[in-house]
Formats: sequence, C-alpha cells, structure tokens
Amino acid sequence: MISDVFCKIIKGELKADIVYKDEDFWVIKDINPQAPVHLLIIPVRHYFSLEDFLEKGDLALLGKSLIVAHKAAHQVGIADKGYRLIMNEGEHGGKLVPHLHIHLLGGKRLGPKIVK
Ligand code: AMP
Repeated sequence: MISDVFCKIIKGELKADIVYKDEDFWVIKDINPQAPVHLLIIPVRHYFSLEDFLEKGDLALLGKSLIVAHKAAHQVGIADKGYRLIMNEGEHGGKLVPHLHIHLLGGKRLGPKIVK
C-alpha cells in the first residue's frame, strides 16, 4: 500500500489547503512556500515519478496537468503577471516526496535562475 504524504492528503488522512480538485488532479498550497504563491499540482493516482508515469499513465493527463496549472494560476490571480512551473526528479533534482507533482511558483518577479 502506497502512503506518501500526497496520497495521505488525497485519502483525507492529512489536511491540506486545497485550491482546486477534480477526478485527476488536486492543487494544494505548498506547506513550505518558496514564493508568495507556491502551489503543487498532484495527480490523484499515485505515480512515483515521471518515469513511472510514462510507463503506466495516460499521456493525455500530461496535457491536462498544464491546463490545471494554468487554471489554478488564474484562480489565485497570478496568471496575467506570470508564474513558473518546476518538476523535481530524483536525487539530483532534489525530489523529496515520491509522488509525481509539479510546483507552480509566482506572486512576485522570480529570479532569472532556478539552479545554484
Ligand atoms: P519535491 O519532492 O522536492 O519536489 O517537493 C515536495 C514539496 O512538497 C516541498 O516543497 C514540500 O514543502 C511540500 N510538502 C511536503 N509535505 C507537504 C504537505 N503536507 N502539504 C503541502 N506541501 C507539502
């Protein structure tokens, strides 16, 4: 039984600040925001990683994830000024939660670089 923190949120075992949800994706506020707006776009179905998703997932959901991200940016009022989407993968990518997700960051002018 898979039980990462995002699965727990989706199962209702952990609280989260939910911005949007449908049958395929939930969008929640990141608990440790790195920008004035920091959301996470999370597939309801568990995939460990992009590789796992590409093996087992419905590729149409990849496109939908971007539509959901843009909708969420509209919903929180940052779509016009812009935002950044980031996906961390693996050790070098700095991934902490083993459940596929996209970070949406904005609410201010972000720096020109995202790597140190
Ligand atoms: P990463 O796996 O590095 O791409 O990032 C995982 C993100 O999940 C981090 O930005 C965490 O702050 C965030 N996070 C971890 N636990 C929670 C939680 N319970 N609710 C909301 N965000 C979380």
